Amino acid sequence: MTTLRLILGDQLNPTHRWFETVDPDIHYTLMEIRSETDYVLHHAQKIIAIFAGMRDLAAQLKRSGHTVHYLTLDDPSNQQDFAANLTALVKTTGADRLQYQMPDEWRLDQSLQQLTQTVGVPVDCVDSEHFMTARDTVATLFKGRKQWRMENFYRHVRQTTDVLMAGKQPVGDQWNFDAENRKPWRGEPPAPIDRRRAHDHSALWAVIQSHGVKSFGQAQADDFRWPLNRAQALEDLEHFIDQVLPSFGDFQDAMSVKSWRLFHALISFALNTKMLSPREVVDSAERAWQNGHAPLAAVEGFIRQIMGWREYVRGIYWSQMPGYEESNALEHHRPLPPWFWTGQTRMNCLSQSIGQSLEYAYAHHIQRLMVIGNFALLAGLDPKAVHHWYLGIYIDAFEWVEMPNTVGMSQFADGGLLASKPYVSSGAYIDRMSDYCKGCHYNRKERTTEKACPFNALYWDFYLRHEPTFAKNPRIGMAYRQITKMAPDDVISIKQKAAEILVNIDQL
Ligand code: FAD
Ligand code: SF4
Repeated sequence: MTTLRLILGDQLNPTHRWFETVDPDIHYTLMEIRSETDYVLHHAQKIIAIFAGMRDLAAQLKRSGHTVHYLTLDDPSNQQDFAANLTALVKTTGADRLQYQMPDEWRLDQSLQQLTQTVGVPVDCVDSEHFMTARDTVATLFKGRKQWRMENFYRHVRQTTDVLMAGKQPVGDQWNFDAENRKPWRGEPPAPIDRRRAHDHSALWAVIQSHGVKSFGQAQADDFRWPLNRAQALEDLEHFIDQVLPSFGDFQDAMSVKSWRLFHALISFALNTKMLSPREVVDSAERAWQNGHAPLAAVEGFIRQIMGWREYVRGIYWSQMPGYEESNALEHHRPLPPWFWTGQTRMNCLSQSIGQSLEYAYAHHIQRLMVIGNFALLAGLDPKAVHHWYLGIYIDAFEWVEMPNTVGMSQFADGGLLASKPYVSSGAYIDRMSDYCKGCHYNRKERTTEKACPFNALYWDFYLRHEPTFAKNPRIGMAYRQITKMAPDDVISIKQKAAEILVNIDQL
């Protein structure tokens, strides 16, 4: 019996049980296809990283003795579509069975399920052996409840996996140390040096370009630093745990013009392509606390992102698909201003955050949430357009993790299923957590003057516009109490200023 096994571009895990034994009757295939490069406009580095990672895994498998059929973008037999290529490969290999690992995106799940009708041999799907929870754990846990809070899910996973637990209680007698993790960064300790290795992918980039694949952002093809295989991903993880994790907690929410990554791990690409497993990342962080290398607040904060947020958003995605991307609870319809594609705006926080996203295909969480997403929500940008932008620009963006973060957490477009209140702020928050305001054309202390920080008027205007939706939300009571104390003329000026900002949004 001959089996053909499909490996997707985000399934670059050489430790999967598929590869434990070498069997000449098993053929593996990986394919670089236009349907994957073109379903959204991607950052150049994202296309390079995935193809280079796929090529690396194919080479590893071949070295171990496996039979691999690798279809490059420019292979004449490549029909640029999974079903067409697999049907052809079933014939050429004489396969009488096709297997694939459970995909993480709904659109691929659908199209791979339909393969049975096209390839002419039985098709089966196996576990990708990556996640700590099942696709439906979140939906099962919250069945019948109106709000699906991450914190409840996170505690459940801590208990079932016994991570950071002392019997039935959390270590340190606290589930969550978030309150300790909100310091701005003033330059001390020094930001970590980027020790990741550089690769030259000019040749691959030339092939991608010669095929007319559209992209945006800087390719950095000759100085490319994202990991391309498990060994490199493990090196990056080790460096993070040794050198960076102890400060992760303190400066988790900080932002600075002096460091584009600060104390973040830069492991999301390796995790989302499955070069690393979430369990091994969590275990290495837990060990760092156990051996006294990193404080509990930092370790708990880091672990919460991975076995809390990451698993939780995946569960939200599978419970809400299809249709989640159409959510628009606040009825926001404004198109993205052109500077989302160039970073050229006088708002320094946005110019820095979008600028580094274009340069590195990376921004850390608070830049994504409290600068770019905050502005998009305050300005009433169309959540689906915002979702497509996030899905394209970040090196780690795959729909199952990006969509709930953007549509739910950042844009409140699901009406509060995921977030208990909108993540919005005025310029004061950005000023407190960053050094962006010092170099800005706008004045963060002004609300309605010519040079007033646009976040300020937009912030109050957002709550005024959406009063029927939010006025009764107990978590936003403070904002509405402040609004009732405002003089009527001030409210009028805020509304006028916000309208003026939105009319001139392309020139901000
Ligand atoms: P660190 O800050 O060092 O965190 C460690 C790990 O925790 C990350 O690698 C990631 O795997 C996980 N993590 C942290 N926060 C989240 C979260 N909210 N959801 C899921 N996992 C999390 N993350 C993606 O992996 N892909 C995306 O497409 C993506 N889109 C986002 C869009 C928006 C609007 C927002 C607000 C957040 C998004 N995130 C996304 C979450 C988070 O910003 C990134 O995971 C993180 O910035 C990756 O960088 P890092 O590896 O340095 O993370
Ligand atoms: Fe951003 Fe406003 Fe600060 Fe400028 S003043 S950096 S626009 S928050």
